[in-house]
Amino acid sequence: MKEAIKAHENVLELIGNTPLIKLNHITKGMKGNYFAKVEAFNPGHSAKDRIALYIIEKAEKEGILTPGDTIIETTSGNTGFSIAMVSILKGYKCILAVSSKSSDDKIDMLKSMGAQVYVCPANVAADDPRSYYEVAKRLHNEIAGSVYINQYFNTLNIDAHYHTTGPEIWDQTGGQITHLVACSGTGGTISGISRYLKEQNPDVQVIGIDAYGSVLQKYHETREFDKNEIYPYRIEGLGKNLVPSATDFDSIDRFVKVTDEQSALTARELAKTEGLFVGYTSGAAMQGLKQLEEEGVFTEDSNIVVIFPDHGSRYMSKIYSDEWMEKQGFGEMTGSEMLNIQYV
Ligand code: PMP
Repeated sequence: MKEAIKAHENVLELIGNTPLIKLNHITKGMKGNYFAKVEAFNPGHSAKDRIALYIIEKAEKEGILTPGDTIIETTSGNTGFSIAMVSILKGYKCILAVSSKSSDDKIDMLKSMGAQVYVCPANVAADDPRSYYEVAKRLHNEIAGSVYINQYFNTLNIDAHYHTTGPEIWDQTGGQITHLVACSGTGGTISGISRYLKEQNPDVQVIGIDAYGSVLQKYHETREFDKNEIYPYRIEGLGKNLVPSATDFDSIDRFVKVTDEQSALTARELAKTEGLFVGYTSGAAMQGLKQLEEEGVFTEDSNIVVIFPDHGSRYMSKIYSDEWMEKQGFGEMTGSEMLNIQYV
């Protein structure tokens, strides 16, 4: 008898079940055991593969989507890429309404994955009919049988992580996890994982990472939207200038804020110390861990899981470009020597 061919049916089968990897070097001198859930191992190189697959399959089960239908979203980032990838394999059209601030590289990448990209002006109000939010809404209303993912306001985003990332972490740590540290953007990742973990053990502490210039931490503390918290920052995918309903603030114990500079330097440090080439928000999450450890949050017995949301390749012209780092004035204080940055 011939042996069976050991092949995957397609890349969608590889979504989820990402590895948990011990951090051995960057954590030297820090109390506790540190493990990274490295979401770059998803085929679309980010955690967003999980929500794209989950939300699309849910719509299929409910009979909302049938092959040939259209899936719409408003992002040039990881979610756009993941939706395009899932759409191709499942036979859907994918329309992405993106801001004109998006780089040509990003737009080309989405088009390469078969998406139809509408580039909308960045400098108009969110309720202007030309904004990418309004364009997406209009297309959704016009195209029969279309699904608008709307990740910031779609609680299926939470469910995707509740059903996948949460159980994986519980299983991979043998239930010994004491702390979860994760970036919060839409909040889907942290909320979904937290709900699952706290159901297993209510003592697990869940800490969100927020950016300076975002409203999330203040909202968590006061339950009030404070627009004075909002100012421009560089990390993409972390923090927000509105309160997303895909965040379950009650599932999060506290937030910690990190700077653009420290997050960029820490991402570079992860590559040089652990061989993990991860994205800007992974640097932010690791930076948050360092700050929490300095505060004395962890003990020798703590088992801390940190989520690294995506891969470093998407940031070549940013945090992994010495020229970009120099232009931002990053790296002067903490020592470019230590990070072996070569300015030419
Ligand atoms: N990191 C990156 C790179 C992201 O794109 C996002 C999503 N906005 C996040 C972190 C945060 O994940 P979530 O939206 O699930 O809170």
